[in-house]
Amino acid sequence: MTVKIFYEDRIIYNFESMIEKTFCSNGRVGVITRETIFYPEGGGQPCDKGSLDGIEVVDVQETDEGVIHYLGKKNIKIPESGKKVLLSIDRDFREDNSIQHTAQHLLSAILDSNFNIATISFHLGTEYSTIDIETAGLPADFFEGVEVEVNKAIMENRQITVTFAKTISELEGIKLRKKPSVDNDIRIVQIDGYDASPCCGTHAESTGILGVFKILKTEKYKGYTRIYFISGKRSVSDYLTKHEICQNLANSMSCNVLDLEKKVSSLCSQIKFQNQETNRIKRMFAQRVAKDLETMSFRHDERRIVAHYLNDQQIDSDLMNLIAEELMDSGMVSVVLLMNNLDLKLLIVSNYDGVNCGGILREILPKYQGKGGGNNYRAQAVFDDETAMENCFNTISNLIKDLV
Ligand SMILES: [Zn+2]
Repeated sequence: MTVKIFYEDRIIYNFESMIEKTFCSNGRVGVITRETIFYPEGGGQPCDKGSLDGIEVVDVQETDEGVIHYLGKKNIKIPESGKKVLLSIDRDFREDNSIQHTAQHLLSAILDSNFNIATISFHLGTEYSTIDIETAGLPADFFEGVEVEVNKAIMENRQITVTFAKTISELEGIKLRKKPSVDNDIRIVQIDGYDASPCCGTHAESTGILGVFKILKTEKYKGYTRIYFISGKRSVSDYLTKHEICQNLANSMSCNVLDLEKKVSSLCSQIKFQNQETNRIKRMFAQRVAKDLETMSFRHDERRIVAHYLNDQQIDSDLMNLIAEELMDSGMVSVVLLMNNLDLKLLIVSNYDGVNCGGILREILPKYQGKGGGNNYRAQAVFDDETAMENCFNTISNLIKDLV
């Protein structure tokens, strides 16, 4: 089996080893070396990035035969067994993963010891990591308290040690956060004063390097709570980005960053009030236009029809809808046909079964390159060309007169 150098020495980033086995499957070359510094994917942590004799290693998997390094280049000459090769891993990527993974240990340990909440699963992502915890419905201030505790453990710069137990009996006396998944050669990761758990991942040497721990958000997930978090350089980058956004917003609103929330809340209230006022004025305007149009309606038996071109630059389709609504609500009109030249829209509304609005548009629109549709009582269309819309309007207007 491949000797995992990273178990013994976590800061070796280059290492020469001998090829034990190579194979090729579907053009993909896999290499097993006697030793490896590559962490294979597992335990929620992605595999290391890096290269083998300069060729990119794109995937690393642990199998019964050993740790397989899959090479990025396809159809290359398969390296010979017995040949020495240089393994190199991406240091920044490894360090970042180790920091996120250690942050997970601290978070899970504090949830377990302080609140008796178990961690169900862990995923280390490229932007953030998540754990799922065995409870749901915790308030936001609970997580603020957890953040404070994790950051306290980081500031204490606690030492992290890795030990091996040959058998489970050697672990008697150590309070483990979770049970080992193997019975022999158990790797135990301990954070002084906080955590002791069996783990095969990579970790920091002490908690101080984690810098800042931040929970980005929490959400309910399949009866559990999913916690999204970052630490290390990710937190610094997150802070710098968000600080810049807040500062730019504060500058544009001529206020202090700490007053932003109050300022935005006040602006939202103002916008809400102004929208209500605008809607009230629009409604009044629609009522006035509807009254004028009502006087211009023409009668066919008992049914009145309003067909009008709203070529006023202030009337858009929203206002046109309101005008149609007012006309129909008056109870005096059976069919309304309107169009406007602001956004080239046409609207037909009817409460008379003999005029099927959607049916009329379906039949007539293709002749005038209009797009739209609707149901029996209401339909609308939009045009690219004003003349086509006017011609369509005239055709529908004549058709309605025949129908009612
Ligand atoms: Zn771990």
